[in-house]
Amino acid sequence: MIYTVTLNTALDRILHIKGKIERKKNNRVCGIQYDIGGKGTHVSLVLSALKIPNIATGFVGKNKKDQFIQLLERKGVNCDFVVQNNATVRETLVLLDSTGEGSLMITEPGFQPTIESIQRLHQKLSQQVQPGDWVVFAGSPPEGFSPDDYRELLQCVKENGGRLVVDTSGPYLETAIQLRPYLIKPNEYEFQQMVGRTLSTVEEYTGEIEQLMAEGIKYVIVSLGERGSLVGHNGEVFQVIAPSIEARNDTGCGDVFVGGIVAMLSRKADLEEALCFATALSASKATHTSSSSFSLEQTRQLEKQVRIMRRESVCCTLKSVK
Ligand code: ATP
Ligand code: MG
Ligand code: MG
Repeated sequence: MIYTVTLNTALDRILHIKGKIERKKNNRVCGIQYDIGGKGTHVSLVLSALKIPNIATGFVGKNKKDQFIQLLERKGVNCDFVVQNNATVRETLVLLDSTGEGSLMITEPGFQPTIESIQRLHQKLSQQVQPGDWVVFAGSPPEGFSPDDYRELLQCVKENGGRLVVDTSGPYLETAIQLRPYLIKPNEYEFQQMVGRTLSTVEEYTGEIEQLMAEGIKYVIVSLGERGSLVGHNGEVFQVIAPSIEARNDTGCGDVFVGGIVAMLSRKADLEEALCFATALSASKATHTSSSSFSLEQTRQLEKQVRIMRRESVCCTLKSVK
């Protein structure tokens, strides 16, 4: 089984505005839409679109829980969230005007899970995760959820023999690294923050990736937005060049990428095939305005443009790769 864990779930409330959003003006809304907020939830959406069984878990507030779960279930995702009373699923306001310049996001902090809720999630994972299962922790926890709370959840997956996939940042990523996850996927900023220095060449990234592999992380993937990714596995580092597309909204590309890679690796695809698919899928996502939409048809076309190179053949700076 594949589990996705979202600790700070959200509903996206997308407000469509005619013309250009401006201050000191009445910006009239011409359409309202609700969507599922990221992060682990969006990994689940990819898996379900590919008909791969998965369970989405994490915390939801009792208020607005039905609306949130309905949106996920409509897209074929099985839900098994810990429900907290007297709490509300937070809303992210996404303001989208017709200029095509990208959206404006306004996020609420989300509720703080109680000790009881944390224990219930811990219990769920320790009772259900079997050896070889995949457990994807994606996104940041809400305020008040400490790195120690995070460590305990991750630890319980490790103890059960689950494959831990972590896509988070800051102190939570640092905490996760100590437990040697199966796969990590920071983006370039999260990775540089983690290693504590600015990295600008492939060689600099490669050194850090090799060190993390040597410490026991099986897959170290650093995503670089439109420039693709650098991937370490089995002592080797690969550079993946993403297809060139016209980007509309790159928010959520990382979640879709993680969904694609977990889907393929869990189906026992080899690494190159998995990277090719995940890279094309996330590029397809970037051409869509909503943060979780992609096209499998377009992905098949984009796959032809993905290039994967072994690190030995790379001798240029990242800036010159486009
Ligand atoms: P998220 O908003 O989900 O947290 P992220 O910042 O973690 O995203 P990115 O590095 O931005 O992740 O993107 C993940 C992958 O998506 C990249 O490695 C790349 O393959 C693909 N991608 C992102 N933006 C583009 C783009 N403009 N063109 C082509 N591919 C893209
Ligand atoms: Mg990004
Ligand atoms: Mg990300």
